[in-house]
Amino acid sequence: MPNKDQLMAVGQTCSEYDCSQENSQRSCESCNHWAGEQSMCDLDIFVEQLTSLDQT
Ligand code: SF4
Repeated sequence: MPNKDQLMAVGQTCSEYDCSQENSQRSCESCNHWAGEQSMCDLDIFVEQLTSLDQT
């Protein structure tokens, strides 16, 4: 299960990030594609995004 830092890090860089609320902090949790901690991203790209982040 991803932690909050990971959700925020992915939200900052994800090209598919989509948020209808202004002023929200960029994070998967505020993204319209986020389906909760069990299902995670409904586009199924969370792990992919996270993995690409790790490649520094
Ligand atoms: S929920 Fe999915 S689409 Fe939204 S920011 Fe996270 S990885 Fe990207």
